[in-house]
Amino acid sequence: MTIKNYINGAYCMPSSQDWLDVINPSVGEIYGKLPNSNREDVQLAYEAAKKAFPEWSKTSVEKRSAILAKIADLIEDNLEVLAKAESMDNGKPLSLAKAVDIPRAATNFRFFSQAITQFYSESHEQIAAKSINFTLRQPIGVVGCISPWNLPLYLFTWKIAPALAAGNCVLAKPSEVTPYTAFLLAELCSKAGLPKGVLNIVNGLGSSTGQAIVEHPNIKAISFTGGTKTGAHIARTAAPLFKKLSLELGGKNPNIIFADCDYDKMLTTTVKSAFANQGQICLCGSRIFVEASMYEQFKTDFVKKVKQLKVGLPSKKDSDLGALVSEDHLEKVLSYVEKAKQEKMNILCGGEKLTTENGKNGYYMQPTIIEVSSNDCILNQEEIFGPIVTLMAFENDKEALALANTTSYGLSATVWTNNLKRSLHFSEHLETGIVWVNTWMQRDLRTPFGGQKNSGVGREGGFEVLRFFTEAKNICINYE
Ligand code: NAD
Repeated sequence: MTIKNYINGAYCMPSSQDWLDVINPSVGEIYGKLPNSNREDVQLAYEAAKKAFPEWSKTSVEKRSAILAKIADLIEDNLEVLAKAESMDNGKPLSLAKAVDIPRAATNFRFFSQAITQFYSESHEQIAAKSINFTLRQPIGVVGCISPWNLPLYLFTWKIAPALAAGNCVLAKPSEVTPYTAFLLAELCSKAGLPKGVLNIVNGLGSSTGQAIVEHPNIKAISFTGGTKTGAHIARTAAPLFKKLSLELGGKNPNIIFADCDYDKMLTTTVKSAFANQGQICLCGSRIFVEASMYEQFKTDFVKKVKQLKVGLPSKKDSDLGALVSEDHLEKVLSYVEKAKQEKMNILCGGEKLTTENGKNGYYMQPTIIEVSSNDCILNQEEIFGPIVTLMAFENDKEALALANTTSYGLSATVWTNNLKRSLHFSEHLETGIVWVNTWMQRDLRTPFGGQKNSGVGREGGFEVLRFFTEAKNICINYE
């Protein structure tokens, strides 16, 4: 299997002639190779995008919308193939890729194919001065989209669909760990009639290919999703070049549980929010805070339910969890179990590497719950991004809020309560971009998506992202 770059509407070999291995984490075996593209490859992609921009940016909204809708149709038609590729590349259960990741990639295109037809700008009259101001929302030009490995096609399309809808040409880089579905998508875009050069996909390492995209002087906006450390590095690189930046970064999300909640719904959802996609979702609730009066009850029930989760080959229908994305990542996640042991924390379940039938060399790990006595510990302060959650009791609302907010991250939070006053108080005071009350991961694509504090800068979703991918120009006409 050779993953190629996609430049000017065609698959192509990299001029770097430098190749990386791609690994199937469920068996720990190399299944193919992908280019580690260099500056020359990025420049070729940029030239193609630049050439395509005048025509694409002048293409009618209706035509752009129709092409995007067609891409959505083709993703749906190829659900099986894409889901298998995603699961093989990432280690996630095939059932999850089929039910969530790939359908959402189609929805991203369909949503922005419609949103662009409703996108509007403002006008302001200055009656006394006999003037009218109006705003033009113009596409930026060539934009860079860089995405991570945890939800590969889901997040790749979450960026490129609005960028294309707004009339930009795109230079995109999927994660080097999971490049397969972006590679397959390119062909579907050609089939849907996306003109050549409008979308270009360049593969490679962040430190080489990604860096070349961010440093390119004429790529005027970068939309990035990934780790906080990488985000900070990108911000430092892009700032002197005055690029527009959207940064969606890490999380350490609190899940706050009050005794007055709907218990069964909370318990089922909490298992999901802790371990979906092996805990490798930036929105996973990794710090669980429980009201003291029900702490012991919850602990017993939660541990029991988590012990029932089945870790297995992603292709098996009954696997609740698949493999972690890579050996390095598995080792990193396991190192937190070692830290917990050193600190004599109470490991309530899990904590071990696993081997599964037919996946002996895969990167599997038991879902793990660790009881902590302080929110200041490393397990509660660093993003682990794997199947480990911590459990801690709180006495009252004030303490719960303080615990939830004592973190450098601010992506999302979940609150379980049937008390309206309490839910509004927490919604107002939690320092996160997203608050879920009595639910988790319920998304409406019209809403702003993003984080506060070290979880990012800017918002994706709805018109927010269409504003990001356009330049606002104010026109003032005096008609006196
Ligand atoms: P990462 O930061 O290592 O890599 C993300 C992408 O950036 C990859 O494509 C990588 O090649 C590229 N990259 C790395 N260095 C670069 C550089 N110097 N210049 C340009 N590009 C560079 O992140 P990851 O390990 O792929 O993903 C996991 C992280 O992503 C976690 O921290 C997770 O919380 C975060 N994440 C955030 C969101 C969100 O919406 N906030 C969503 C998903 C994942």
